[in-house]
Amino acid sequence: MPNTVEMLAALAAFPTISADSNESLIRFAAQSITDSGGHVQKLVGSEPGKFNLMASFGPAVGAGIVLSGHSDVVPVTGQAWQSNPFALTERDGRLHARGASDMKGFLAAMLTAAARCEVAKLTRPLHLIFSYDEELGCLGVRDLLARLAAEGFTAAGAIIGEPTEGRVITGHKGKLAGCICCRGRAAHSANPALGCNAIMLAGEMLGELRALQTAVAGGARDDAYPFPFTSLHAGRIKGGVALNIVPDYCEIEFEIRHLPGTDTSALLARLRDAGARIGAASNGGSVTVDITNHYPGLETARGAAITQIALRASGTDQTGKIGFGTEGGLFSETLGLETIICGPGSIDRAHKADEYITRDELAACDAFLDQVIATLF
Ligand SMILES: [Zn+2]
Repeated sequence: MPNTVEMLAALAAFPTISADSNESLIRFAAQSITDSGGHVQKLVGSEPGKFNLMASFGPAVGAGIVLSGHSDVVPVTGQAWQSNPFALTERDGRLHARGASDMKGFLAAMLTAAARCEVAKLTRPLHLIFSYDEELGCLGVRDLLARLAAEGFTAAGAIIGEPTEGRVITGHKGKLAGCICCRGRAAHSANPALGCNAIMLAGEMLGELRALQTAVAGGARDDAYPFPFTSLHAGRIKGGVALNIVPDYCEIEFEIRHLPGTDTSALLARLRDAGARIGAASNGGSVTVDITNHYPGLETARGAAITQIALRASGTDQTGKIGFGTEGGLFSETLGLETIICGPGSIDRAHKADEYITRDELAACDAFLDQVIATLF
């Protein structure tokens, strides 16, 4: 049986960038699970070459615990790596590879914890889930969760092993991503009254985004987050063809990172109303606001059974919240599972060159998972 470092080396060698297939990693994980006495329950995906995997150990009845992680990683394009990002390389006490922290370290720990566990002692099931396309906006896992929900699947709780430096995280914000599309009319810039300037419409919409930020900052706040309010942000803007042409199109990519429980439809309605007003006041232009992605926030009670299990297993009484999103909100919303986030490594090392995790972090995760699984005996 490989140890967790060896297992991480095996998983890191599959270049499962979100744009590419994750099939080889999933087949490898499924084999490891079968060899360890587990049963592959679901191997499903809604796209060619992309798979979710769900497997279970122990009895088929009773409220078990779900351990889950995403199998995809972000690209390495344009990053200056000191070693091959798809070959786990130890340097100065650090294990470098794409996904080492985010989040193949946890996937490796899931597989070896299941392999170590005495399956015959389980009185309730241990479930493992591997998802795909998390890095594209938590896209892949939705299909699996919908199927499980339709079958009435339930469990005592779920742990998503995103890198939290081993901290027990009970909440994160949700994220709504969208596009503000401003349509104008082209004309020679020497006679701008004949056209409608889409970039100017976009400028007005940027002002609306800023005004909305000011408004939400006067409302709900949660000081557990570094930025304690819902945030609105414009990340990309594209418009215009040449300086002497009145631009007929401009788009703003924006996001709303919202506190759990925030009514994003009300915020969107305000943006859409503003767009309609600005379009109507223009010389024949229009503004529409389209949603491109949305995943919910997460808010799990400190008193929840899974929170208490995770706190005991990690030997702490501190819980926290994180700024970045995870699939946890979807587990909670779709399956009604009490869900926490807890995994090895750091999000600060993720998505960058020379991403790494340490042997100590992996060993701590091994001990944590052994304790969690022991609650199922
Ligand atoms: Zn991740």
